[in-house]
Amino acid sequence: MKKVRFGKTELMVSRIAFGGIPIMRASMADAVKIIREAIGLGINFIDTAHVYADSEEKIGEAIKGIKRENLIIASKAPDDSKDAFNKTLDTSLKRLGVDYIDIYQHHNIATEAKRDAIFAPGGAFEGLQEAVKAGKVRHAAFSSHSIPLAMEIMKSGKFASVQIPFNYIDNDAEKEIIPLARELDMGFIAMKPMGGGLLDNAELSFRYLLQYDGIVPDPGIEKIEEVRELVGIVEREEPLTAEDKKEIERLRDEFGPSWCHRCDYCQPCPQGIPISMALTAAGAMKRFTPERAEAMVGPAIDKARTCIECGACMTRCPYRLEIPKLLKERVARWDARTGA
Ligand code: SF4
Ligand code: SF4
Repeated sequence: MKKVRFGKTELMVSRIAFGGIPIMRASMADAVKIIREAIGLGINFIDTAHVYADSEEKIGEAIKGIKRENLIIASKAPDDSKDAFNKTLDTSLKRLGVDYIDIYQHHNIATEAKRDAIFAPGGAFEGLQEAVKAGKVRHAAFSSHSIPLAMEIMKSGKFASVQIPFNYIDNDAEKEIIPLARELDMGFIAMKPMGGGLLDNAELSFRYLLQYDGIVPDPGIEKIEEVRELVGIVEREEPLTAEDKKEIERLRDEFGPSWCHRCDYCQPCPQGIPISMALTAAGAMKRFTPERAEAMVGPAIDKARTCIECGACMTRCPYRLEIPKLLKERVARWDARTGA
């Protein structure tokens, strides 16, 4: 598998990463097989997060006996405070069974309040800096769903890599984030290369993303056949055809009017509805275990039932989504699924 330079980290990572969300649904034995298959096919970059249930443990089990220097491991901590961050990092190291993590990311800096908490005295960033000095972490990094926040944080010069959603529907990163990452020589991990489970044509998704040199798509992988299929696509290196481009346009027209980019510009909602969580419920249902999806999405759907259709959110949504109507649809779909 082709390797690419991951920005100023100088790490050489495989052309695609192995995303650690869906292995939560697999048994330990199956997860180990899937991860080892991916490594055997040349994927040396594994990305997960502390909050993905037992994903770190499964990865830890799978990489036992593999030379540490042959793997690039990334994970994420959700914490705002230094104390909580330090505990999370130590747990990540223990679960993964490693002495250091190559890329450790503040997980989803989604709001200005979260950014401020992380960078405040005693905040998680202090913990991350100290972890880099102590050799527990090789490179400080972050993930986000917000383009403006991500750009601001990238410009601070504090981080070696950024992770943000990027696929042929959610392609805002193309205009500013990717050029900025190149200018700052930062690594770029393309989160949700298949739209968080909503885009099912892998050939199209990866041909699209592989046009961008140095960008590392991070697909969640759940089955051995999926690893083989994705590696095959990457190795064939086929460019987008005219037909593919037409299909992308068609899918943009189909999905665009209902595609939530999880930017949260629509907030605050007077009813306290977590709009983006409710609108992306279908993706969570596909990627997480039923229990976890239920715990994550169920409360958001229940809140969505309280929408008073005031329209305040719609005036703030840059994608002009008809949010109250879409929320109703998501609630109906949820109820149909659960038989409520
Ligand atoms: S329309 Fe519904 S979701 Fe939007 S702000 Fe009003 S109550 Fe919240
Ligand atoms: S509804 Fe619109 S503003 Fe709100 S998170 Fe989704 S895309 Fe962003």
